[in-house]
Amino acid sequence: RRSRILPEKLFKVIIIGDPTVGKTSFIQRYVQNSFTKEYKGTVGVDFALKVVHWYDSQVVKLQLWDIAGQERFTWMTRVYYKDTHGCVIMFDLTNKNSFENTLKWKKDLDGKCTLSDGSPVPCMLLANKCDLQDRKVHQADIESFHKENNFIGWTETSAKEGLMVNDSMKFLIEVMMQHE
Ligand code: GDP
Ligand code: MG
Repeated sequence: RRSRILPEKLFKVIIIGDPTVGKTSFIQRYVQNSFTKEYKGTVGVDFALKVVHWYDSQVVKLQLWDIAGQERFTWMTRVYYKDTHGCVIMFDLTNKNSFENTLKWKKDLDGKCTLSDGSPVPCMLLANKCDLQDRKVHQADIESFHKENNFIGWTETSAKEGLMVNDSMKFLIEVMMQHE
């Protein structure tokens, strides 16, 4: 039996979107598999590390950047976006405005960075808080919107219940690996 040890891969992934959509909770669920109810605002880590054991003894490390409150005041700077390999743009299914603003976030991202080969940064659209009843955004609208605006995919998630958190990130990793 031969074993192959592949060099580790390190990806920078940024999570952006309006305040309170659940970005920090999503990262916390993905990295620590936990959820805390209170709203933390600007307090909290700026990035977290997630180690994923991918196929063929391939270790993938994700450096997850959380904008931790700055999203209230301005769009992000070029420095923040620099060398990003992948992106998550998140909105809250119960907040229509946060859905509409995802277009501004996407334009901000694409206007300020690309991959090293010049292609757009792979970006997932995540519709968070799917555990809640009072939805304000229709699935058909998300479906057409994500195609028109070149997201690699979209899914509903719940950071609270841990729904589609791992699966959505797995999909993003697959796309990032294809760009290597
Ligand atoms: P951020 O500002 O985008 O980082 O949002 P937070 O992660 O701080 O979450 C804002 C609020 O939404 C907090 O009260 C969270 O507990 C809550 N929240 C986050 N994700 C979910 C979710 O999937 N479902 C529900 N019901 N609440 C959530
Ligand atoms: Mg936050």
